[in-house]
Amino acid sequence: MFDLLDLLFPPVCLSCNKFGQFFCSDCQTKAEILDETICPFCLQKTLNGVKHPKCKGYIDGLISVFKYKKEVQKIIKEIKYRYYKAGVGKLVDFFLKNLRNSEFDKFLASKPILVPIPLHSKKMSARGFNQAQLIAQILAKSWQLPISNKFLVRAKNTQVQAELKKAQRQQNMKNAFIPSREILKIGSKSLQNKNILLVDDVWTTGSTMQEAAKVLKKLAAKKIWGVTVAR
Ligand SMILES: [Zn+2]
Ligand SMILES: [Zn+2]
Repeated sequence: MFDLLDLLFPPVCLSCNKFGQFFCSDCQTKAEILDETICPFCLQKTLNGVKHPKCKGYIDGLISVFKYKKEVQKIIKEIKYRYYKAGVGKLVDFFLKNLRNSEFDKFLASKPILVPIPLHSKKMSARGFNQAQLIAQILAKSWQLPISNKFLVRAKNTQVQAELKKAQRQQNMKNAFIPSREILKIGSKSLQNKNILLVDDVWTTGSTMQEAAKVLKKLAAKKIWGVTVAR
């Protein structure tokens, strides 16, 4: 469709500043694809991102596509900290084009509910959007799966994880999420036997997703996978 805004403000590559698109084909070629999948608990290599049988934690599988560096890192940061939310579509398209994982396909076939990692209300009103929510919306549409943000609330306005050392990150995220009032009212029945796919932009140590998954598992969710664009 003809887009007047694109004509007045032609998109600029959020990584190299070239006119044309938010994530140009040169930068797409340079973006590094992850060559292995890791266990969401011990962070060691595992086949197809499935948690090792003996490992603990609340996430059963993890999938990411890009290395969180250079081009992809730049784009994610521009979206998040400079509010270029228009760049999300291109990024997710490219993510989908490069996503290949047979175990994850099986998980998607179980019709999980997509749950974006919520932002704290203060951060949400400052930024005006939640990048995880935008990513999840595109994924839900593409996979024709339900999406919901009625389960989780971010109770703690946590510090930006990237600013913290590894040990501090876990402490920072501890009890960051609580079940929403709505879900407590209707009971956890709506989650019984349901699989959940948690969605975020980046996986760093995993403490954010583990904390979110903990709440959902306690509410009765069955299997939980995590998906992030980069790691
Ligand atoms: Zn570029
Ligand atoms: Zn493991």
